[in-house]
Amino acid sequence: IKGLLDRFRKGLSKTAQLFNIRSWFGRKVDQSFLDDLEARLIQADVGVKSTQRIVDRVREAYSDKTADDDLLNFVKAELKALLVDPRPGTLAVSPSKPTVYLIAGVNGSGKTTSIAKLAQRLKDEGKTILLAACDTFRAAAADQLTVWATRSGSDIVKGAPGADPASVAHDACDRALARGADVLIVDTAGRLHTQSHLMRELEKVRGVLHRKISGAPHEVLLVLDATNGQNAIRQAEVFTKSIGCTGVILTKLDGTAKGGVVVAVRQTIDLPVKFIGVGEGIDDLQPFDADTFVESLFT
Ligand code: GDP
Repeated sequence: IKGLLDRFRKGLSKTAQLFNIRSWFGRKVDQSFLDDLEARLIQADVGVKSTQRIVDRVREAYSDKTADDDLLNFVKAELKALLVDPRPGTLAVSPSKPTVYLIAGVNGSGKTTSIAKLAQRLKDEGKTILLAACDTFRAAAADQLTVWATRSGSDIVKGAPGADPASVAHDACDRALARGADVLIVDTAGRLHTQSHLMRELEKVRGVLHRKISGAPHEVLLVLDATNGQNAIRQAEVFTKSIGCTGVILTKLDGTAKGGVVVAVRQTIDLPVKFIGVGEGIDDLQPFDADTFVESLFT
């Protein structure tokens, strides 16, 4: 957990600057203090409702007192309470091979990179991976995925440019079953300007996975770019309505002070954050842990 904390700290430093409550120690908790706290929480994209809740609770407990370690711990506990999730943070594993993860998200969110990082993680656990390049619209997407697949020693199935993504998914299922792959990770298209078409395509791919493999997809992971803040939440609402996501991979937390969007994901769209991206390197995808996350925001 020590290594994890260090990585989180490094990756979340921009958001942590906003939450530097220690620099407020000794200040009286009056209206101006509460206004400052509110502004910081909003700026970090915690979301209006959650921000209001935290500010109200601090007002109730600390009005006219002096900001100190106690208050800092109180704010931490409030954030943790907002992040608590009874669902497991780990990915579901199917009792029979292969376990299938469907990955969705708009272009540029970090989908391909996250798939590569995830494949590497699972590979390191000794699993055999098959990648399905179902984004047949962007030729570069399949190429990029191939490069990553080679690097992590994963197998890949791709279609001709413009091929039906559902048929690529179909072939990938056949190959995964034939080769006894442990995990099938399915990349999908993410062009948002044709939203209804995209959602139909995703539903079709999902349908194929479901018909071909028992219980599949075992996870539908939505990749969201944290730098998009509240816009990422709106994207999540659209995707969840269409394809029923089971979890979120929140990327680029290292490049933004909007790390509070983790709270908004949990509170607004009620999806567990499964992994966070804290850099461009292959090992910069970390399992999300609420305690570690909150602690690293206040160091
Ligand atoms: P896609 O279009 O959704 O497949 O996005 P890509 O995987 O190609 O990623 C878009 C850009 O974001 C690339 O330059 C990635 O290196 C970068 N990226 C992805 N995840 C992270 C992250 O966690 N942190 C940082 N700093 N960059 C990331």
